[in-house]
Amino acid sequence: QRIRVIAGNWKMNTVLDEAVELVNGLRYELDEIDTVEKIICPPFISLAKIKELLQGTSIRLGAQDLFYEDKGAYTGEISGSMLSDLCQYVIVGHSERRAYFNEVDEIVNRKMKAALRHGLKPIMCVGENLKQNESGTSESVISEQLRVGLSGLTSSNLMVAYEPVWAIGTGKAATGTYAQKMMAFIRRQIAEIFTETAANELPILYGGSVNPENILEMLAEPDIDGALVGGASLKPGLFLSIVRQAA
Ligand code: 13P
Repeated sequence: QRIRVIAGNWKMNTVLDEAVELVNGLRYELDEIDTVEKIICPPFISLAKIKELLQGTSIRLGAQDLFYEDKGAYTGEISGSMLSDLCQYVIVGHSERRAYFNEVDEIVNRKMKAALRHGLKPIMCVGENLKQNESGTSESVISEQLRVGLSGLTSSNLMVAYEPVWAIGTGKAATGTYAQKMMAFIRRQIAEIFTETAANELPILYGGSVNPENILEMLAEPDIDGALVGGASLKPGLFLSIVRQAA
């Protein structure tokens, strides 16, 4: 029996004051829901403050990215060692980073290794875009993202998020049936890359226009363990509703 996970990816939203307000609007009620792993991933600049606000609660913190080197002359970058005393999770290889910052699978792989090296639990994102979906290559795209992204890892202490690019921010979530098919495929790939046991234990999250209306359809599927929520994670009422339904 795998744990249920609901993670909120705030993306590039909220200045510090807004981040604090959002956390204050969520933390008491979220804290009380104990059958779900609740994770929020605010922008880097708010992590330290939010860490304080979440002290003593059951809500976990994640970053949205990290750099693969540990320190040095890499102006503007944030390393795993900087993050490891601020948060427990880190999103790696989000499709927006792949699309806008040229993050290819080899870079994603180096970031995965850096996260694990620093004791952070990576949430590695994979997913096909619309063109790949329409040309019937979704499975080969995802299989390659997994094969390269996870190559040479010494630990499977991670999560995978299946985020079809065409479903992100569009209001058009995948159907539960389609997501299940892809996520069962992902789990089989994980079994080949790691072990059957690792595949059975590893949480796989769906991401892409998750909202209070479609979360139950997703969670009804056997290989969908939770969700990586974008837009709806910025609205306390919506995010709470999603987490409550997952409990
Ligand atoms: P939306 O929920 O806004 O579609 O974003 C999904 C996502 O990219 C989460 O990482």
